[in-house]
Amino acid sequence: MVGGRLKETRFHDVYLPLRKDLKVVFWAPHAAAPKREFYTGTIVRELHRRVGTAGIVAQVSRAVADLNRPADHTGVDCSCPENYQREAVEEFFNQLKGVLKELGVLGEDGKVMEKTLLFGIHGVKDEKGYGMILGTRHGTLCPVELRDRIKRKLEVLLEAGGIDLNQNPIGCEVPGYQGHPFLEEVKERFGEKLNVIQLEISKTLRTKYTDQVITALSMVSLAL
Ligand SMILES: [Zn+2]
Repeated sequence: MVGGRLKETRFHDVYLPLRKDLKVVFWAPHAAAPKREFYTGTIVRELHRRVGTAGIVAQVSRAVADLNRPADHTGVDCSCPENYQREAVEEFFNQLKGVLKELGVLGEDGKVMEKTLLFGIHGVKDEKGYGMILGTRHGTLCPVELRDRIKRKLEVLLEAGGIDLNQNPIGCEVPGYQGHPFLEEVKERFGEKLNVIQLEISKTLRTKYTDQVITALSMVSLAL
């Protein structure tokens, strides 16, 4: 990677923002094998390389520590060291804090002072019938106006990239994909001005339209 600002930590690769005016943090919590969501880490890294956005990419499998779950969550693989999940989640909070500080949005009280978006990048199976799903826990994590504006923008950009939206529709708050409750804890910790969206991207879009997805998310970041 050329021109990036990478920080490797125990559980994450952290891409410090190259453009501090882009108040968005892309986050791939399920990027590490086994049980990885393919291309989610690549999408975050490419966004950093192309437009300079901040990113956090998990380097630990969700099977042993799920970064999209609370500190007391028990992984599938119970042979991991005691407190592994807790330590991983605490590190996520610390790294996110560091990135928000770099973006110049973190107040002395530890809360975000200026509207910033934490954009979780996930993978969903094609069988769910959507190209993308945006989850905000029905507006609890992010105002529905912002969610809908991003959805419309993604539709226009993906269509311009040759993606058939009838085959790959974009949905919001689909049952089971409306954003994990843990994200409410993330939002509480950093305050109301941190908006959070859990974005699920279908296998087809991740694997066959990777470039179009990255381009669309770049444009969204530039127009937040
Ligand atoms: Zn996921």
